[in-house]
Amino acid sequence: MFDLEEIKRYAPFCVSCLGRSVGLVGFGLDNRERGLEMINLIDISNNSNIENEMICDSDDCNICDGLIGEIDNFIDLSCESISDYSLDTFKIGTVVDKEIIKIESEFAAIFGTNLFESIKSQLNREIGIGVYQKLNLSARLDRPDSTIIIDTRYDTVNLEIKSIFIEGKYNKFDRTIPQTYWPCRKCKGRGCKSCNGSGLLYPDSVQSLVAEPFMKVTNSTENLFHGMGREDIDAAMLGFGRPFVLELRMPKNRKIDLGYMKKEINAVNEGRIRVRDLEIVPRARVAELKNTVCDKSYRVDVSIPEGLTIESLKNGAQRLKEKLVKQRTPTRVAHRRADLIRPRIVQSVNILSFNQGMVELEIRAQHGTYIRELVSGDMGRTVPSFSSLVDGACKVEVLDVLNLHLENEEETK
Ligand SMILES: [Zn+2]
Ligand SMILES: [Zn+2]
Repeated sequence: MFDLEEIKRYAPFCVSCLGRSVGLVGFGLDNRERGLEMINLIDISNNSNIENEMICDSDDCNICDGLIGEIDNFIDLSCESISDYSLDTFKIGTVVDKEIIKIESEFAAIFGTNLFESIKSQLNREIGIGVYQKLNLSARLDRPDSTIIIDTRYDTVNLEIKSIFIEGKYNKFDRTIPQTYWPCRKCKGRGCKSCNGSGLLYPDSVQSLVAEPFMKVTNSTENLFHGMGREDIDAAMLGFGRPFVLELRMPKNRKIDLGYMKKEINAVNEGRIRVRDLEIVPRARVAELKNTVCDKSYRVDVSIPEGLTIESLKNGAQRLKEKLVKQRTPTRVAHRRADLIRPRIVQSVNILSFNQGMVELEIRAQHGTYIRELVSGDMGRTVPSFSSLVDGACKVEVLDVLNLHLENEEETK
């Protein structure tokens, strides 16, 4: 029934490796038990005694080269690798020498079945069970908190910890801080004299004010701040706020009291920034956020020539309502953007207040509209413009984002 000579060519081997070669045939037994059954089967049909002649400990096994006997060691390595992290779920992966994988499939072929279990599968399963029993964490194949990859060739562990993603919206009232970390130009973030070793051109940013408390609580190694677009440094972000996702990398602690964090951040940064609607989200939200575009409303203080009347301002504002405007790439961004003419729809322009030499406007326009140029005309590069319609040179002095008009979001508190 079995070719003893063929089998002998691979001897000695361990019981587990013998059992694994028919591993998927019978369910409910582990590979060692299957191995013992196989010994019986082979000996009965061949009138042989392979237990004495061919079976050995894993240490001397020609198939697994000792790996099966190392499972307890791999369990310890795995537990140790995550001992600093508070996690709920994990997954085990293993890297196994190609030669071992080749030999085990050749060996399994003798028994005429392709139903052998791979050594990686056995290792992953049994190490997983061991970790579960020791640390009481659940094994989970789909998006676990941690993936422990054991390189069995060198007894090293490569640990992957799932990032934490926190979505929310922010307001920015401080017109001196950028949205994200802004590295020092001189040292490019390494830290030098002119940035006091901080590596930053601006010591604070929306990112730093929001992320630092989370970094502390979760003990993460770094963070990324994904905003749905951004406003200029000198622009406030008002209204319902701008959506963002904060990504915390390699967090040691995953338990976060979002309500408490929100209160803390808002109390410490009162008058500068505020966050709201914080929730834990999947990674996919980052791309969704990046791909979302919407109309925006702005509040702008505009300087106007003396003598320009409220009537002509009203008239100019009215003529921009639902108007298609053509904007050639502004000179101020021409160094980094292609020179194109971009058509943009202006929904509305409303006059909020009017003073001698000054008008306050609320402008709602399609995403990507250059508001400063819409007002100034940018030397004729934006047509028509508020300046051309009121027949006087107007200039944005202060620009704030009032709102992002996301679908169904205008009702949120
Ligand atoms: Zn073996
Ligand atoms: Zn520097």
